[in-house]
Amino acid sequence: MTQQKQSFGVIGLAVMGENLALNVERNGFPISVYNRTSTKTKEFMAERAQGKNVKDTYSIEEFVESLERPRKILVMVKAGKPVDAVIEQLKPLLDEGDMIIDGGNSLYEDTERRTKELESTKLGFVGMGVSGGEEGALNGPSLMPGGTEQAYGELAPILTKIAAQVDDGPCVTFIGPGGAGHYVKMVHNGIEYGDMQLIAEAYDLLKNGLGLDHNQLHDVFAEWNETEELNSFLIEITRDIFKYIDPETGQPLVDVIMDSAGQKGTGRWTVVSALDLGVSIPTITAAVNARILSSYKDQRLTASKQLTGPTHKYQGDAKAFVNKVRDALYCSKICSYAQGMALLSKASEDFDYSLSLSEIARIWKGGCIIRAGFLDKIKTAYNDNPKLANLLLAPEFTQTILDRQEAWREVLATSNYLGIPVPAFSASLDYFDSYRRASLPQNLTQAQRDFFGAHTYERVDKPRGEFFHTEWTQVD
Ligand code: NAP
Repeated sequence: MTQQKQSFGVIGLAVMGENLALNVERNGFPISVYNRTSTKTKEFMAERAQGKNVKDTYSIEEFVESLERPRKILVMVKAGKPVDAVIEQLKPLLDEGDMIIDGGNSLYEDTERRTKELESTKLGFVGMGVSGGEEGALNGPSLMPGGTEQAYGELAPILTKIAAQVDDGPCVTFIGPGGAGHYVKMVHNGIEYGDMQLIAEAYDLLKNGLGLDHNQLHDVFAEWNETEELNSFLIEITRDIFKYIDPETGQPLVDVIMDSAGQKGTGRWTVVSALDLGVSIPTITAAVNARILSSYKDQRLTASKQLTGPTHKYQGDAKAFVNKVRDALYCSKICSYAQGMALLSKASEDFDYSLSLSEIARIWKGGCIIRAGFLDKIKTAYNDNPKLANLLLAPEFTQTILDRQEAWREVLATSNYLGIPVPAFSASLDYFDSYRRASLPQNLTQAQRDFFGAHTYERVDKPRGEFFHTEWTQVD
């Protein structure tokens, strides 16, 4: 008797692979699993897969053989060389029409290359961004699949079931060809860096500018989480973090955590790509830089004894200032998303991704780390005008910022006065002030470039595209 074949396979049983495997199985699809280190597979079977329709396999051959055709294989291993290694093992064992999904945080350029290679061998390849961490993977992540569209069509019945579900559908959509899915996931992570840094700066102002304790911080974030503008997963977990007491010291745990942030690369990749494409994303860049500077812990300890700053205390109305920080946070967040969406728009043009920014905002509404009520407004803005040049120009966001910019500026002035660094708040306001001005001082930059390098310049009183050069040293 031939054995029943499984409808979906997962390779890689670390946190993400295990949880996605259980999510797929829970949604009614029998699965096979394989992990390079077999003890992990045995542990998974004993601890989490008991009584479930999960087939454990202990060689790639056995794994492939256990799957019904066309085979659908999710690879959830460490990004980089391990993904290539797994694909190379799979390739000779697969048949035309079988499909591989790379659900890790792969660099989009690697995904472009893998899609081309695999499509040429008649295998389908889907590079899929997965957001939502461990919990999202198990209960419903936001999925950003790109690559072979036909393969996506075959996978859609599974992906739409395992994704987070929101009021306007499952948090998954076909993103675009080649590396589009991983590109969008990368920018999602860049935006996540921006959000986290902005929240950290608000916390610094409230804690060190106003002197709020962890209970008061909890209350402020609880209140903010109830607002239409700021209601989000990151504000919600921040609220809960302030309440968590370290059993060892009896202190709020956040106070005993080292102030040195780690990063795995997607924020940096976002900044590098933005520089390559010529898109200005200063808030996200500031967030990456803030993590880098935070890691100079020893130098900062030394410097803190030598490089003194202001010692003022905030003298104004504390409650009113909390509300101003909330407004500054929201305005800065809008600028950060405006930058991320502008980057997606340029990448879509340059790489022929045909991205739908409203669909991307929609699938970020649930499941992922940046999920927030505010994404609905972004979705609407791009629905109303798919060619919107910048989110700041959408009537809803224009009005929001015009209504709140006074508070935003006051928060920045106060931060400077108190000596509290707010690099992402500042970068956002500078972005807004630069973007909104019809004239900037780069006429002088152009004059300098022409002076020392004969780089030429355009004139405001002549048609665009006509270039001039001046022999500057002949000027008296
Ligand atoms: P991970 O720590 O990134 O990777 C561990 C897995 O990779 C293990 O199954 C390991 O197998 C396998 N592996 C490593 N090198 C291998 C090789 N040369 N050949 C075969 N398998 C190899 O696991 P993770 O945290 O679950 O993440 C998986 C992917 O999802 C990563 O790309 C990650 O960036 C991405 N991601 C993670 C999160 C998160 O919250 N953790 C969220 C979204 C996306 P062994 O057991 O044999 O070592």
